[in-house]
Amino acid sequence: MLTIKLRDLKMKVFVSNKQGETLMPCSPRKARILLEGGKADVVKRNPFAIQLVHGSTGYKQNLTLGVDTGHNEVGLSVVSETKEVFSAVAKMRNDIAKKMDTRRMYRRQKRNQLRYRKPRFLNRAASRRKGRLAPSVQWKVDAHIRLINQLKALLPITKVVLETGTFDMAKMKNPEITNAQYQQGVQYGFENVKAYVLSRDRYQCQCKKKGCSNKLQVHHIKFRSKGGSDAPNNLITLCEKHHKALHAGKFELNVKSHKSLKSATTMNIIRRRLLRYFPEAIETFGYITKANRYQHTIEKTHSNDAFVIAGGSHQKRAKERIIRFKRKNNRSLQKNRNGYAPAIRKQRYAIQPKDLVRFEGNQYQAVGMQNKGAYLKMTDGVKAVVKSVKKIEIVFHQKGVIYA
Ligand SMILES: [Zn+2]
Ligand SMILES: [Zn+2]
Repeated sequence: MLTIKLRDLKMKVFVSNKQGETLMPCSPRKARILLEGGKADVVKRNPFAIQLVHGSTGYKQNLTLGVDTGHNEVGLSVVSETKEVFSAVAKMRNDIAKKMDTRRMYRRQKRNQLRYRKPRFLNRAASRRKGRLAPSVQWKVDAHIRLINQLKALLPITKVVLETGTFDMAKMKNPEITNAQYQQGVQYGFENVKAYVLSRDRYQCQCKKKGCSNKLQVHHIKFRSKGGSDAPNNLITLCEKHHKALHAGKFELNVKSHKSLKSATTMNIIRRRLLRYFPEAIETFGYITKANRYQHTIEKTHSNDAFVIAGGSHQKRAKERIIRFKRKNNRSLQKNRNGYAPAIRKQRYAIQPKDLVRFEGNQYQAVGMQNKGAYLKMTDGVKAVVKSVKKIEIVFHQKGVIYA
């Protein structure tokens, strides 16, 4: 039987009213009082959400969701006028491409074992379909959509702001663009160009010398004092050390032209798909976030970026959560282990990795079964222990998107 003890709750609890409309989240203490008084029901366990039993329009504020999109980590923040109600960093899966390769290898092997099979290739509709994304990219697009939709289902979010890249290509081509999307009145034009130049030069000093320092700066090839422009083709990335050396006349830069930036990057694809999926979302860029972060002296992290993207400045911050993705079902039956006979899976254990379990009153996360299911390796987040399954109680099966 699955049980959840209310004292295990540490994070804010999501609330909806009798009609199922989302309300402002409440404290675990408040949730406990409501649940014990029979005034609410549990509707979701991860993240923990309750629904009020009695009719109540409830407490609602306009909330903005800020998303710092990314490859490896996605920052999420939901902010109201007065406080941040949700903060999280989602760790993206980066194992898709490798898993696809492994699958391809096994399938090839299998087919080659059918000796008289005619060679067939390019016979898949999918490989010819236009607009098809590589599975690893498609997964990332889907993951962003999933996170945003899930938060919209848990909180009364009225506005979504997405940071889709570090610089704004459209604004650079046409600086006259004035869009309602730009929440700021300040001119960040040069910051945009700088972000572009850094990205174009792949965040590497372009001096072709050794011993670069870490800090990167953008240098005017034809000095501004001599009429050099702020256009990207007059700008180049240099490290602080070589930038100083160059201005001191210690060496000369021999660069003429610049390749333009490759546009079809993965993030660009993700960006376009997200904007197509959320047409009402507001787009913002890294250089704006960075400038706003400086203004409010906020340190750079993914969750802080998301907070600033959502329009956060002085608001009281929420505790940061970690969101992880777990494959719903590992369907591989055979594991080939180097130097051992292949392991054939004959059964699926009741406790799967990442499930929440309880042992002697404390909550742990399952790591994996040992000794043919007699023992469980589990962790409390600090250290791992191995205990007999007889003494372990399952709290919750974690699947899909996991909120810690
Ligand atoms: Zn350098
Ligand atoms: Zn310079």
